[in-house]
Amino acid sequence: PMPGYATTDPTTCTRILEFRLHSDGEVDSRVRKAQAAYRRSTESDVTERAASLIRTARLYRKNAERLAALSVLEIGKPVSQAMAEVELAASIYEYYGTAGPAMLADEPVTAEEGRAIIRTAPIGVVLGVMPWNLPYYQAARFVAPNLLLGNSVLLKHAECCPQQALEIAILLRDAGLPSGRFTNLFLSHRQVADLVADPLVRGVSLTGSERAGVAIGELAGKHVKKAVLELGGSDPFIVLPSADLTLAVDVGTAGRFGNAGQTCTSAKRIIVHEDIWDEFLLSFVDKAASWTTGDPADPRTRLGPMASRSARNALEDQVGDAIGKGATVHLGGVVPDGPGSFYPATVMSDVTAGMRAYREELFGPVAVLYRARSTEHAIEIANDTPYGLGGAVFTTDEHEAAFVADKLDVGMVGINKMIKSAPALPFGGVKNSGIGRELGRFGVDEFSNKKLIHNA
Ligand code: NDP
Repeated sequence: PMPGYATTDPTTCTRILEFRLHSDGEVDSRVRKAQAAYRRSTESDVTERAASLIRTARLYRKNAERLAALSVLEIGKPVSQAMAEVELAASIYEYYGTAGPAMLADEPVTAEEGRAIIRTAPIGVVLGVMPWNLPYYQAARFVAPNLLLGNSVLLKHAECCPQQALEIAILLRDAGLPSGRFTNLFLSHRQVADLVADPLVRGVSLTGSERAGVAIGELAGKHVKKAVLELGGSDPFIVLPSADLTLAVDVGTAGRFGNAGQTCTSAKRIIVHEDIWDEFLLSFVDKAASWTTGDPADPRTRLGPMASRSARNALEDQVGDAIGKGATVHLGGVVPDGPGSFYPATVMSDVTAGMRAYREELFGPVAVLYRARSTEHAIEIANDTPYGLGGAVFTTDEHEAAFVADKLDVGMVGINKMIKSAPALPFGGVKNSGIGRELGRFGVDEFSNKKLIHNA
């Protein structure tokens, strides 16, 4: 694909609208404006900042259909899933607008002498580098808590969702946020690097691939900036013999094929106990076959195209490598003719350690089933990955569930459910899935100054 910010419809792969990058001069003046707005915000009352978040939530809901239509257009997200994402983004603004002020209350600490408190204070201008897979939700996780805190926010969204990035800026402006508190920027990677080096920028948060995280983490380290990295995942989804198989199949297929598989906590590796392997495989493939591709603008469509041709090509390479090395394909696996970046619901097994699909994140509608000899073996497979974002275990045995939840090297575990992000629940991973937490109380703490104030 041609580089640059552009709206390209993945249903047809036609480039519709292009946007130019901001010049270095424009970026510089906006950063200064953001810094001035930060200084003014430290004199504002938190209730004022919270009120603007609640107004933002209202505007997301009021404009949900228009916002969702842009997700259909720019990333091919099925409209029903796009509407759900807009609602989730709205609920994040609402949460920080309502529950947020209490998170900023001074906390007393016991000191040997005098009276000491810890104040949760802002740090200045912070930069968010965000991906295209959930454009409104990913931005909201970063923007809402930082605006509450009093930081000024710069957003560099992914190249393929420029209109959605502009909408976010419009909603925040219309919600009455003071000018400079939020700024959308269309930037090259070089300009992002310059911003991380800029003394006025005090922190950077990136959601995206491990490769991008390494690049940003390296820059942040070099310039002593706080970084939060929310990177990929290859989440295990463990099904044990006592599990409710209908539930596990329903949740597993929805968790793998929703958003065309382009979600960080998608059920990427489905690990099934051998006692139920045959039965589970049969019913999983059967259910997966009902995820037929269709027009994302149609409210009945559950599986739209992938977000871009390049995303599909990357997936095709990973699957091709696995097939070439002996993986079994039970469903799909063949790129269809015709326009768009559609990829069929695919189910594979016999994926082994020498294949790319074993270690890499499969960011598309491809489920890989692994056969485990025992619960311990299932845990071993689950942890044999560079990633550690989320995970799920299906069993009706409570002790077994608690045991598995304890042993998984991940940041989030669901028992008889998949991790579904919600405003109050901390979100993040361990290992190469990243550093830090978003949402809930933790989302406010990441880019705050835990300032000690000690009275004699
Ligand atoms: P990237 O990680 O490259 O993009 C995410 C964001 O980071 C975009 O805004 C991108 O900007 C920016 N970015 C990337 N590299 C740099 C850099 N060196 N300096 C500054 N900014 C940078 O995602 P891709 O779209 O390339 O997707 C590739 C793979 O990443 C996927 O197949 C998937 O495996 C993984 N991914 C995982 C996500 C998750 O939630 N787990 C989300 C997105 C991707 P720009 O668009 O301008 O390149």
